[in-house]
Amino acid sequence: MTEAWRPEDDEPRGVSGPVRVRVPAKINLHLGVGPLRQDGYHELNTVYHAISIHDELTARRGDTLTLTMAGEGTGELALDESNLVIRAARALARSTGVPPHARLHLRKQIPLAGGLAGGSADAAAALVACDALWGTGLSRDELAEIAAGLGSDVPFLIHGGTALGTGRGEAVSPVLARPTVWHWVVAVAEGGLSTPVAYRELDRLRAARAAGPPLGSTDTLLAALRQPDPGVLAAALGNDLQDAALALRPSLAATLKAGEAAGALAGIVSGSGPTCVFLATGAADAEGIAAELDALDVCREARTAHGPVAGARIG
Ligand code: ATP
Repeated sequence: MTEAWRPEDDEPRGVSGPVRVRVPAKINLHLGVGPLRQDGYHELNTVYHAISIHDELTARRGDTLTLTMAGEGTGELALDESNLVIRAARALARSTGVPPHARLHLRKQIPLAGGLAGGSADAAAALVACDALWGTGLSRDELAEIAAGLGSDVPFLIHGGTALGTGRGEAVSPVLARPTVWHWVVAVAEGGLSTPVAYRELDRLRAARAAGPPLGSTDTLLAALRQPDPGVLAAALGNDLQDAALALRPSLAATLKAGEAAGALAGIVSGSGPTCVFLATGAADAEGIAAELDALDVCREARTAHGPVAGARIG
């Protein structure tokens, strides 16, 4: 970590103007869920993929730490100490020794509790924005270390792209992939699903089936990322949490069916749901599938997106 900030420093550190950070949503191209660990987390083997639905966090100088917001979840999401933006700013201040002073404003497009890791994305954005505002100058790896203490998906959202996640998801390593742009349709559902509830449902389903939790390999998926055919990637997509999400929200089965009938190569529940994501052959196909899903009324809203995109970045 960098040296602690000292009040007697003559040179003011950081920047005086606002810092704007854009951060993407994530989907899991493969989400393998292993056994429940002693610490209450499940062992994961996942391939993260950052897509072009972004939240934006602006950080300005202030005398205290405050947060305001606009967009998705306004009026529902608490803006107090429980918010991941505030928790991330405080965690950075603690580990660098700077006073946690900033005026933060969040513009949210990532749906709340949607299985797209919006809260984790906002935490990653807050780390990058406050690091620049305060001039603490941490490397991405140092920020990712603080990020791991805030949530399993936060380190990935610092890095972005497509990456392998192991442990409880916090151990992130880049994957070797072709520079292919993949086109997605994102079917946003009405209301959210709680991630812990989805994991508990998976444990319940597995106990009922007396099935051991095999931690599926990511090999097929990783091979699919090294070739250009979206059909091959479509066949490799998988999510161990999907059955749990479908059990909790049976209407998602109709959403998945509608996307595939509209021409998607494959559809899966994103993370713990209830968002469903569909892989399309190209950008035009994605637009067509989204229009059809909107017309069918099988989701709150269908958006198009592409990936991979960068993680939390200034500008
Ligand atoms: P994940 O896939 O990482 O489990 P998710 O996409 O299902 O997450 P999030 O939108 O990340 O869900 O939010 C999960 C919960 O985190 C919310 O219900 C909310 O209580 C809490 N939270 C705290 N700060 C934020 C934030 N800035 N944005 C969204 N949720 C937040």
